[in-house]
Amino acid sequence: MTSMRGVLLPGDSTVEPVTREVPEPGHGQVLLAMRASSICGSDIRAIYREHLGRGPEAYQGVVAGHEPCGQVVAVGPGCRRLTEGDRVVVYHISGCGLCEQCRSGYLIGCTDPSRAAYGWQRDGGHADYLLADETTCLTMPDSLSFVDGALVSCGFGTAYEALLRLGVSGRDSLLVTGLGPVGLAAAMLARAMGVGPIVGTDVSEERLRLAGDLGLVDDAVLADDGAADRVVELSGGRGYTATLDASGNATARHLALSSTATWGRCAFVGEGGDVGFDVSPMMIHKQVTLHGSWVTSVSHMADLIGHLDRWDLHPERIVTDTFTLDDADKAYQLADRGTSGKVVITFP
Ligand SMILES: [Zn+2]
Ligand SMILES: [Zn+2]
Repeated sequence: MTSMRGVLLPGDSTVEPVTREVPEPGHGQVLLAMRASSICGSDIRAIYREHLGRGPEAYQGVVAGHEPCGQVVAVGPGCRRLTEGDRVVVYHISGCGLCEQCRSGYLIGCTDPSRAAYGWQRDGGHADYLLADETTCLTMPDSLSFVDGALVSCGFGTAYEALLRLGVSGRDSLLVTGLGPVGLAAAMLARAMGVGPIVGTDVSEERLRLAGDLGLVDDAVLADDGAADRVVELSGGRGYTATLDASGNATARHLALSSTATWGRCAFVGEGGDVGFDVSPMMIHKQVTLHGSWVTSVSHMADLIGHLDRWDLHPERIVTDTFTLDDADKAYQLADRGTSGKVVITFP
């Protein structure tokens, strides 16, 4: 096969199908047959509706999709680890490999001009094939499905990193504001790490129901005017030792921070927007630590893949809707509504 299907996002809430040549792997690169390519909130927020991104989020008209998972079908010269048939998760940014951030594994933080995120500045996973740098590929155990792998490549990795930043353990209670895919991921992983009780909030009744039905939260609270009182009441009045905002909404961020217990930790993960709060009562006098957490490192992603295998945990559980590449427009319309679980494009 010499040509393949792909999908671009022109930025006016539409999806543009294109035909491309199947690329050939260069030095240190592999060609992946795509098996699963999920949609992330960032795709909706910064590309699909309109091209909002600047710098690392600037969309450069490439094949979309930054949550790719596939199988190696061709290996370029100079590859040292991967062979044909390997099933891999793609860490969704390739960095320069030499700067401080790259050397610590946080390719996301690379500021070299050569940095390129799949689906933003270099072709991503919404195509039959993806050209990937070997250094960005992580092999998966047989126990994980390709859909599991796609979900790890951004969303679950991002949720895991925030939980590491919060240092959660079985001694913690957790509040998650925003029960979209990243919030659901955080709840699922926190549960596996022994955290409890876990309470979640969202503005969407559908998302509250999904989180409850999946058993990922002990209580799901509608984010209305009474949410702050209800959330603290559910913690026995003490607040939560760990809180995590996955919504990016100012009211939800405020709720996460105000519901953090004295000496507790809070992480902001949801992107965009702003927040305002009274610093003394909400942070200083409560001895609160506030973290910003962006994606994860390659090594933490590899750790997570190993944990999922040992914990017998499947990210795929939060998938509510699956589409083929030919129906990518329907997949994006649904994801844009913000009421579903994870939406994935698969390649049957
Ligand atoms: Zn993402
Ligand atoms: Zn770098």
